[in-house]
Amino acid sequence: LQEAMVAVAAGAQGCGLLRTEFLFLNRQTPPSEVEQTEVYRAIAEALRGRPLIIRTLDIGGDKPAAYLPFPAEENPALGLRGVRVSLWRTDILATQLRAILRGVPSKQCRIMVPMIASLSELRQVRTILDGVRAELGRTDPIALGVMVETPAAAMTADILAAEADFLSIGTNDLTQYCLAMDRGNASVAAEFDALHPAVLRLIAATTEGAARHSRPTGVCGGLASDPIATPILIGLGVRSLSSTANRIADLKALVADMTLDHCQCLARRALAASS
Ligand code: PEP
Ligand code: MG
Repeated sequence: LQEAMVAVAAGAQGCGLLRTEFLFLNRQTPPSEVEQTEVYRAIAEALRGRPLIIRTLDIGGDKPAAYLPFPAEENPALGLRGVRVSLWRTDILATQLRAILRGVPSKQCRIMVPMIASLSELRQVRTILDGVRAELGRTDPIALGVMVETPAAAMTADILAAEADFLSIGTNDLTQYCLAMDRGNASVAAEFDALHPAVLRLIAATTEGAARHSRPTGVCGGLASDPIATPILIGLGVRSLSSTANRIADLKALVADMTLDHCQCLARRALAASS
């Protein structure tokens, strides 16, 4: 809530990534539907009608919770994470979706699913969402989008975009899984580069796939706050950037001075670069 108020004061046109897992971490039981509803409602109200992209629980791997006893995993980054946890514990997902529908006006609400690797995962979430809507007697449409954080999602963006209302690229995880480098490992931090041409080609594949179905693509990973990346992302077809609040003014000023031609030219050169 505090960050939402700061972001609006800083000129944000919406919230591109509400990391709901913060509500779920460092406690002994998951937050109740009522508690979640109140928090989501307060954040939506602070945004005063601006769009709110609210990410379903992204827990597991680097973000464990005491009340979710994960089986021991040799490689948690490749195990039960993101949407996989939600589809393992559909009770928690259904409660969260109910709280979102109750707390956030449908016009403002965009629900986003993390760590998607296959269309079937999105379909399962949509089925649960439709069940919750029916239960609440809701007929207004609710936007449901995917986070593109796996190379699988980027390479099949056209298939996902046929059924997702929007795509948003999580460059932190996309870089980790593309370069096979742990995002939290200091030993590989020097080479962990979200502007690596391999990552940029995955971003290009995403925007192309989304465009085939006229779906918008945003970026909500750390790269969206990097002014060096801004023209390249726009040149690749990204049309919304979710940055940290303290960067909003500088990024807006930067974008206001750019032409699309220049951005597209830079993007073409970056895609062809060797490093
Ligand atoms: C990302 O992976 O880029 C992202 C935005 O999600 P998180 O950093 O919360 O994993
Ligand atoms: Mg992520």
